[in-house]
Amino acid sequence: MASRSAWQGRGSGRAGGPLAITRERPGPAMTRRVVVLGAGAAGLAAANGLGMHAGAGAELEVVLIDRSGEHVFAPGFAAVLFGDAEPGAFRRPVSDLARPQVRVLAGEVTRLDPRASAVSGSFGELAYDHLVVALGADVGWRGDSPPGGDLAPWTLEGALAGREELRRIRPGARVVVGPAGLAYRCPPAVFDLAARISRVTRARVDLVHPWPAPLAPFGRGPSAAFTAMLAEAGVGFHGGFTIAQVTGDRVTSSGGAVLPYDAAFLVPPHHPPAAIAGSPLAGPSGWPAVSYPALTHPAHQDVTIIGDIAAPALRAGMAGTLAVFQASHAADRIAAPGSQPGDPQMAAICFADPGDAASFLYCDFTGPAAGTGPPKCVLMPPLRYFRQAKQLFAREWFTSMLTGDAGTAWLPLPAQPGASRERQ
Ligand SMILES: Cc1cc2nc3c(=O)[nH]c(=O)nc-3n(C[C@H](O)[C@H](O)[C@H](O)COP(=O)(O)OP(=O)(O)OC[C@H]3O[C@@H](n4cnc5c(N)ncnc54)[C@H](O)[C@@H]3O)c2cc1C
Repeated sequence: MASRSAWQGRGSGRAGGPLAITRERPGPAMTRRVVVLGAGAAGLAAANGLGMHAGAGAELEVVLIDRSGEHVFAPGFAAVLFGDAEPGAFRRPVSDLARPQVRVLAGEVTRLDPRASAVSGSFGELAYDHLVVALGADVGWRGDSPPGGDLAPWTLEGALAGREELRRIRPGARVVVGPAGLAYRCPPAVFDLAARISRVTRARVDLVHPWPAPLAPFGRGPSAAFTAMLAEAGVGFHGGFTIAQVTGDRVTSSGGAVLPYDAAFLVPPHHPPAAIAGSPLAGPSGWPAVSYPALTHPAHQDVTIIGDIAAPALRAGMAGTLAVFQASHAADRIAAPGSQPGDPQMAAICFADPGDAASFLYCDFTGPAAGTGPPKCVLMPPLRYFRQAKQLFAREWFTSMLTGDAGTAWLPLPAQPGASRERQ
């Protein structure tokens, strides 16, 4: 908390209109500035958690920076693809969802300087006492886009283009579905996407995946259930298939297997965000290293890394529910330095909705994160009721972001030592 030179910036602070941020210590001598990068599931939940602590008397100044100014609920993109909802249902201005104690700043982060404890970007330069990096994954093709373009609901553009494509597909047409790489958001979602496309279009759908069997890393039970789900929907599964090339009418694996198609719904590659990949926080793969259970960077204890951006280092799935649990843990830890908040809840819940009855996969990634074993996963049996639960998950998401129990309060999750869900 050394004295800092003055800096002025403008943002859309929720309370009090335009925001002036200075590098001077913001208030009383002990007030610490926590800068949160990214207002997705992880960043917004962390900022609001910190805001709750500030509201309860913790001496914190909380600044939340996002380039889009919107909080987006990405699981809703599948509903957009199948024409069940419009994009507006899944977006809200960040300033509407941030608690009053959180200052919201719209801007692109371009540089992280952990040695100087500062970040910079379109908003200028901002010093911090603690940094929360929650920039997610950079999802998209980079000049290597399939000739048919992005049609998969891992981006909003993909969902909208995929919706148009679905209307053109005739029964019997050949459709290929699969991920471009192994790290992608909500891994189960590509399986029910294939099943639902098969049901809706009555096309010949083939699912390609690097895993040898559906959901192979998540245990025998979930794998068998997803294998049955694909068979029931008439989807052909091609395991051990890592996509090496996509041309106008065929997908080729790194092993030389070829699948012809009329339409391809391929999950785009997930890259580390450029601001991280070019920073001292990046590891050799471009993704940052993350210590477990602290969720901080091994060389910089004042940098917490949560959400999708932390998933490769923690060997966890990319899931908004997991991101929110990590955010809650991070907020408690940062607000009370030196406290022992226990281990973070490493649970993720991903819905699978092949079109009639839905189910969800619950995985605890403590084992992979701690290096002690595989994830522990349970797949709920398919029920029509879970389709409604999925809709409830979407409907409640924005409200629960404000209240601090983002989308998870209604699930009977196992209690974790140190988990704090009762902050006011
Ligand atoms: C089809 C689909 C289905 C899914 N289903 C589920 C599910 O059932 N359950 C579940 O838990 N999860 C699900 N997910 C995954 C979930 O959406 C993500 O895991 C979650 O959004 C990750 O949150 P995050 O905060 O880490 O990243 P994001 O939500 O991606 O947020 C990152 C934020 O950082 C901002 N940002 C990035 N770079 C910069 C920069 N340089 N400067 C400023 N701001 C920047 C972005 O604008 C964004 O707001 C699904 C995803 C998809 C696509």
